[in-house]
Amino acid sequence: MGHPVNNQDVIVIGAGIVGAACADALSQRGLRVMVIEQDMPGSGATAAGMGHLVVMDDNPAELALSAYSVSLWNSLVGDLPQRHEYSRCGTIWVAADEEEMAAARTKADTLSAYGIACELLAPAALYAREPQLRTGLAGGLLVPGDGLVYPPKSARILLDRAIRRGATTLRASVAAIEDNGVLLADGARHQAQHVVLAAGSRSATLLPELPVQPKKGHIAITDRYPGFVHHQLVELGYIKSAHAASGDSVAFNLQPRPTGQVLIGSSRQFDTIDLAVEPAMLQRMLRHAAAFTPALAQLNVLRCWTGLRAATPDGLPLIGPHAARRGLWLATGHEGLGITTSLATAQLLAGQMTGDGTRIPAAPYLPGRFND
Ligand SMILES: Cc1cc2nc3c(=O)[nH]c(=O)nc-3n(C[C@H](O)[C@H](O)[C@H](O)COP(=O)(O)OP(=O)(O)OC[C@H]3O[C@@H](n4cnc5c(N)ncnc54)[C@H](O)[C@@H]3O)c2cc1C
Repeated sequence: MGHPVNNQDVIVIGAGIVGAACADALSQRGLRVMVIEQDMPGSGATAAGMGHLVVMDDNPAELALSAYSVSLWNSLVGDLPQRHEYSRCGTIWVAADEEEMAAARTKADTLSAYGIACELLAPAALYAREPQLRTGLAGGLLVPGDGLVYPPKSARILLDRAIRRGATTLRASVAAIEDNGVLLADGARHQAQHVVLAAGSRSATLLPELPVQPKKGHIAITDRYPGFVHHQLVELGYIKSAHAASGDSVAFNLQPRPTGQVLIGSSRQFDTIDLAVEPAMLQRMLRHAAAFTPALAQLNVLRCWTGLRAATPDGLPLIGPHAARRGLWLATGHEGLGITTSLATAQLLAGQMTGDGTRIPAAPYLPGRFND
C-alpha cells in the first residue's frame, strides 16, 4: 500500500445529482475537487427519479430550499434548455374533493406570500388544460414556474463543468471515511482537507449514525403520446403519501416528457433495498393513476424501474458539517426532492465550507439538528 494521495482540497463521495452539483459549486469557488463514484455518474436515484423541478411547501424550510433551487435551475438551463431535456411544463396540483380544494387554497396562499406565481383552477379551467382527467374533480392549483429535466444528463453537465475547472473523478468504492480522507475498497487512501458525503440512500452504510433510510419508489414510462397531458399532474393527496413514515403508499403523479412519453409515478415503500420491480406495487400504482386519467389504461407501458430515495425523519436533507467530525460534510437525505434541491444544496454547502455565507439560512438543514 502506497502513501495516501493528497492533492485536492475536497473529496466528494458520490456522483449523483447532489455530488455533481457540489463538485460544480466547489470548483467554481476555486477549490480542487476529486469526485469518487463507484458506478456510472448519475446512475443511482438520480437515474430513477422523475426529474420534476417543483416548489414544495410542506414547511417553511422546504419552501425556502426548493424555491431557491428552482430559481437556480432556471439560470442553469438558461439558453440551452434542450441539453437538460428541460421543459417548463408547470405543475397542476389536482384536488379530488372539496377538502383537497381547501388544501389547494392554503397552498396558493403560502406560495403567493412567498412570491411564487400560481393560479387556482375551477373544474372548467382544469379540464380545459387537461382534458384527460376524469370527471368529478374539484379543481386544482397551477404553478407555472415548475419544470422538469432529465436528471442523469444534468448530473453529467454539472460534473463536466467541474472537470473543466480541474476537478478529477475516480471510479472506486469508498469503504470508510477517515480523518481528512477516505479508504477505498482496494486499500488505497486519499486525503483532503474536506470530505463531502453525497452517497444518497447508501450514506448510512458509511456513517451508520446517520438518520437516513432508503424509501423505494416505482416508475413506469409509456410509448410516445404527444399531448396526452401538458403539465406535471400531482394529486394533492400526494403530500399524505410522501410524508408517511412507514408502510406502503401510492400517489398519482404524471409527467409529460419532452419526447411525448408519459412518466407515471409514484410509490413509496420502507424496509427494502431490493431494486426488483414488484408487480403488485406497480399494478397498484398504475391503477391509481388510471383512476385519475382513465385513458392511461389504453397506453403502452415500455419500461418500469425502481429507485431508492434517502429519507430523513423530518423530510429535510442533511446539508452542512457533520456534528462531531471535523472536515466531514454531509449532502444527503434528499428523499423525493433531490433533483429539485440539488443546486441549492450545493450552494449552501459551498457557502458554509468557504465561509462565504449562504443566500438562505442554513440552520434548518444542518446535520446537527438530530443531535440536540
Ligand atoms: C422513484 C423516484 C422518483 C423521484 N422523483 C423525483 C422528482 O420528480 N423530483 C425530484 O426533485 N426528486 C425526485 N426523486 C428524488 C431524487 O431522485 C433523489 O433525491 C436524488 O437523485 C438524490 O441524488 P443523490 O446524488 O443524493 O443520490 P444518488 O443519485 O443515489 O447518488 C449517490 C451516488 O453515490 C454513489 N455511492 C454510494 N456509495 C458509494 C461509495 N461507498 N463509494 C463510491 N460511490 C458511492 C452511488 O453509486 C450513487 O451514484 C425521485 C426519487 C425516486 C427514487
